[in-house]
Amino acid sequence: MKTSVAPPDGKSVEQLDRAVIFLGPPGAGKGTQAKELARHYGVPHLSTGDMLRENIAKGTPLGIKAEPVMKRGELVPDSLVLKMVQQRIEQPDCTHGFVFDGFPRTVAQAQYLMSLLRQNGYKPALVVHFVIDPKLLLRRITGRRMCKVGGEIYNIYERPPKCDLRCDQDGGELEQRPDDREEIVGPRLQAYEKQTEPLVAYYRRLGRLHEVNAAKSVDALCAGRVDVNRWRFICAAVMSSKRCTVPGSSCMKF
Ligand code: AMP
Repeated sequence: MKTSVAPPDGKSVEQLDRAVIFLGPPGAGKGTQAKELARHYGVPHLSTGDMLRENIAKGTPLGIKAEPVMKRGELVPDSLVLKMVQQRIEQPDCTHGFVFDGFPRTVAQAQYLMSLLRQNGYKPALVVHFVIDPKLLLRRITGRRMCKVGGEIYNIYERPPKCDLRCDQDGGELEQRPDDREEIVGPRLQAYEKQTEPLVAYYRRLGRLHEVNAAKSVDALCAGRVDVNRWRFICAAVMSSKRCTVPGSSCMKF
């Protein structure tokens, strides 16, 4: 982390030199925060959910296979996801690191990622875990609406647009993701618990897990403010190899 880059806000920041992984259930706010961190460091934000949705929109062979699985709220098979991820992180814009959002989701994916990163000469990833009360999640997810034009995210309960179902930024129509509907959210959360919770335990055992209170960060999220200093803090912590030493403890306080 020796070089400086100029991010879009014009301030000079230290360069990211590794992958950052955001873990947390759907609706924990990790997507918005991951985008912000990536923007701050000028590195790609890699959301496997977005990548899969793009493939569906373009009607690629991958998209055609993934669509019915995603509609059921299940995880897309590794045989499809891992190749997509490998091809993406080998692109030149990933040289200085990238922010993963929604990947890995299982221990098998994490083990694959670790060997992929090693092969490509990256340092070990920083893992940020968003912890949130499950009761808050349903309201967050079912209330989420996304602008069809610019992708801006709203919440009809917590951060509604000024005009009914139109984006404040560009007037684009707001839509609900098909898998954010109430009947799909249950299976998605169950899939998360069953397959991703062991992943949290896995990274905790490795001493790589940094936990953040996602219920707190939603205040900033809903107000449209995300404090980039918190991410500087996270990255500074990992660069100086500070890790959680007590299993299950929250070592990052915001
Ligand atoms: P997300 O946008 O991260 O909530 O993901 C939406 C859906 O895409 C998930 O419910 C899965 O069906 C699929 N998906 C996204 N990332 C992965 C992944 N790493 N492994 C398997 N399926 C994924």
